[in-house]
Amino acid sequence: MKTINNSPPSDVYIARLKGRGHRVTPKVRAVIELFLKRGCLLDPIEVQTQLQKRFKGIGLPTVYRVLDNLASCGILVIAASEDQKRRYYICRDIDAGHHHHFICRKCGKVEEVNLCLMEEVSKYVERHLKAKLEGHFLQMEGLCSNCNSS
Ligand SMILES: [Zn+2]
Ligand SMILES: [Zn+2]
Ligand SMILES: [Zn+2]
Repeated sequence: MKTINNSPPSDVYIARLKGRGHRVTPKVRAVIELFLKRGCLLDPIEVQTQLQKRFKGIGLPTVYRVLDNLASCGILVIAASEDQKRRYYICRDIDAGHHHHFICRKCGKVEEVNLCLMEEVSKYVERHLKAKLEGHFLQMEGLCSNCNSS
């Protein structure tokens, strides 16, 4: 059973940032709030456009710095993409331990997948390669329930 966390969703992110020695500036908070509100993939230009409403003249280098700080803490994830364009999404459950995410190819919505069934694959790899497996990346893609029904 999961315990219910009553604190506002951004508190866990603030705690993680502080724990890793990052400064929690208004811009950092604004980026977290933006990703939580949108719940989908965002590229740095979109983030810059949204932030300019509150922080006039904010430059792309600043946006990248904030995004990469958040990514280094595991709060944002850089999505793998076929076009090599950089897009980020927020993990809504950073304290959940190892898990995966589902990305809608049509609308970019990102959902948590708190499940990993890679054990069999890992055993196979270790057995056949005589290797010691230390991790894996898995990005699931498809159509979200909305896009799938329209
Ligand atoms: Zn997540
Ligand atoms: Zn969708
Ligand atoms: Zn996994």
